[in-house]
Amino acid sequence: MYLFNPSIKTIKPYVAGKPIEELGRELGLKESAIIKLASNENPLGPSPKAVAAINKQLDKLNRYPDSNYFLLRSKLSEKLKLDIEQIVLGNGSDELIDCIIKTFSSPNDEILSSESTFLEYEIITKVNNRLFKTAKLKDFRYSLQTIAQAVTDKTKIIFIANPNNPTGTYVNVKEVLSFLNQIPKNIIVVFDEAYNEFIDCADFPNSLSYLKDYNIIALRTFSKIFGLAGLRIGFAVTRQEFAKEMNKVRQPFNVNSLASAAAYAALDDLGFVKRSQKLIWEEKKFLYENLKKLEIKFVPSVANFILIDVKTNSQSFFTTMLKKGIIVRPMDAYGLDNFIRLTIGTHNENVRFINELRKLN
Ligand SMILES: *Cc1c(COP(=O)(O)O)cnc(C)c1O
Repeated sequence: MYLFNPSIKTIKPYVAGKPIEELGRELGLKESAIIKLASNENPLGPSPKAVAAINKQLDKLNRYPDSNYFLLRSKLSEKLKLDIEQIVLGNGSDELIDCIIKTFSSPNDEILSSESTFLEYEIITKVNNRLFKTAKLKDFRYSLQTIAQAVTDKTKIIFIANPNNPTGTYVNVKEVLSFLNQIPKNIIVVFDEAYNEFIDCADFPNSLSYLKDYNIIALRTFSKIFGLAGLRIGFAVTRQEFAKEMNKVRQPFNVNSLASAAAYAALDDLGFVKRSQKLIWEEKKFLYENLKKLEIKFVPSVANFILIDVKTNSQSFFTTMLKKGIIVRPMDAYGLDNFIRLTIGTHNENVRFINELRKLN
């Protein structure tokens, strides 16, 4: 007797970055002795303006949130120069992935993405009894050409993590336009842009400019640049008629009132955004230089993390680093057996990682 939804049988549970508290318990280490460079979190902490906004909101916790999230959605629409009706909020962009799958596909439809990408696409697809198909990566990059060739009559949604997590690579304007022009119009293309504010290249596509002419959705999040991963808030930007249907599918109070107040305030915290960008861009250079000195191969990244070839089993490298109080992310679950993903940390954190790496080399 099998009591469960058969399509969850093949799901490998999502293994998140190891929490600092957990490693502290296991090794009897003080939390202050541990550094976590495993979940692409902001090493500067949360946006201070967001924290202040949460404090102001606390005595209103007896009230339900505004289920239309008018204030936050209107501020987002002003910033993005789009209509408020084009914005849908989610409990993290993770929740919006589920909402998109439920809104635009039925059981047994196909959902297409790449191999070695964000694992939630596959998990949420299977939980919803849809079929997950992948195209091969080329040189650690999404191959939009291969994805286009994998489209069938049953394909309903294509997820493109841009930049890709865990490789840090991106698809450019030219590739995206040619892709959008060749796939059938009945397919929704989702650009998951969790690292949008860290992009440091000139030919990165502005997905919002395609909204008029193509059936696309852009996903953004407050988890990374604004340092609010613990609050769980993200948003989708899409065509008005799509947002309307997604709003039927999401739970009415899917975003809590602290998260929406914090996100509202964070949008004005331009100083924090600038500091975060400056840190990541400077430290990325520092890490690149030191990895090169150690003759360790890595994949150049436009995000706040770097995929590193550790030339050994990723789990054993992970365990070795844990013993030094450093949490990185092993990449075997992503089909990248000899790789780890390193989140760019503060300068001191990065120095500590490089020093340990040098000892191993
Ligand atoms: C971090 C990340 C997200 C963010 O998810 P939230 O649920 O908003 O925290 C989404 N997609 C990708 C590819 C990511 O790396």
